[in-house]
Amino acid sequence: MLVLRGGTLIDGTGRTPVRDATIVIEDGRVDAVTTGAAATWPSSAEVIDVAGMTVLPGLIDCHDHLAFHGYELASRWELNEPGSTRHLRTARVIARTLAMGYTTVRDAGGLDAGFRAAIDEGLITGPRLLTAIAIISPVGGIGDRVSPSGHECLVPADPALPRGVANGVDEVRRVVRTMVRAGADVIKCATTGGASSRAGHGPRDPAFDADEMRALVDEAHAQGRTVMCHALGGPGLRLALEAGVDSIEHGCYLDEDPELIPMMAERRVFFVPTLTVYEYHSESRASHVRERSRALRNHHRESIHRALAAGVRVVAGTDAGGHGHPPNAAELQHLVAAGLTPTQAIQAATAWAAECLGLGRELGTVEKAKRADLVVVAGDPLADVKILQSEDRIRLVIKDGAIAARR
Ligand SMILES: [Zn+2]
Repeated sequence: MLVLRGGTLIDGTGRTPVRDATIVIEDGRVDAVTTGAAATWPSSAEVIDVAGMTVLPGLIDCHDHLAFHGYELASRWELNEPGSTRHLRTARVIARTLAMGYTTVRDAGGLDAGFRAAIDEGLITGPRLLTAIAIISPVGGIGDRVSPSGHECLVPADPALPRGVANGVDEVRRVVRTMVRAGADVIKCATTGGASSRAGHGPRDPAFDADEMRALVDEAHAQGRTVMCHALGGPGLRLALEAGVDSIEHGCYLDEDPELIPMMAERRVFFVPTLTVYEYHSESRASHVRERSRALRNHHRESIHRALAAGVRVVAGTDAGGHGHPPNAAELQHLVAAGLTPTQAIQAATAWAAECLGLGRELGTVEKAKRADLVVVAGDPLADVKILQSEDRIRLVIKDGAIAARR
């Protein structure tokens, strides 16, 4: 039994913080949450005094690429170093992510299921992982490996990371099943280009037709997997929503079609804006990437405002990987700059994020019977959300009731 006493609790529900909170943890779960003198525990419990600090639910990143380490072609095609070096690099990123308070991460492509197994087995430390394995898109889509010269990548596909290119209804179903066979927890697809995609396949350019997308969603749901869809704008964005995807990733131009946000609210589709990556791209050395990111910025913010007003769950995802692995909590700072209150930004990375991952009953809030994933921070993140990015402020990380990091 572990007891955290004396801290201020932000429980993830959006309620006012509770001072002098005591959290009792037993068998990996929260056993009790009490305040002041009401708290009791057996003398055998390990008691940690967290007075003056803030206790939060373990943080969740709903869109990361833990195994990506650069946008350069040699890195993307995995030619720049041996696989062993790359995997160890990925393991280090995973361990650091947990030590920074991220107890759950959804990987949006590039991370094979072996990492999840390695964490479960205790070979490496890391967050609870959900992985999409690889991005599914048609020829020419963002999951297609083509160089700027038009050459296809002929490096043999790693069986743990099957190729995600699929054309036509039958092939789409086959590739979804292949991802599930490779261990996918969630299906990731793309119905538009993006900021960093090849010239000629931009944010409003579509990928997949309606039949292909309906087949993809239908097959994923039949296999018990949700669908996270990269969709920035134009007809591909509408297509994704009409096909029934569960979350819209990026969603920069949602404001351009007045029917889309109400549709998301009604169907309870989550919105993962991934502001961090566009901050990075807006300074890109590639002019087409820089221009695309700057052009979408105001639309993106407007989309977030309208989504919040309509009751759509806006959740935190960084799209980290290509641009390196800065602290994932940078996304909370960007969400606050885009108009969320600090309380909402924390919910976007805790309670709402857990719902987006289908884990709302287990994770995301500090309440009796939930899994004990907790972060203890020196200071008040509601006064300054940036402190969540600071290594020396993250004093204690607890995952499944066990201490994962302590400073
Ligand atoms: Zn991504």
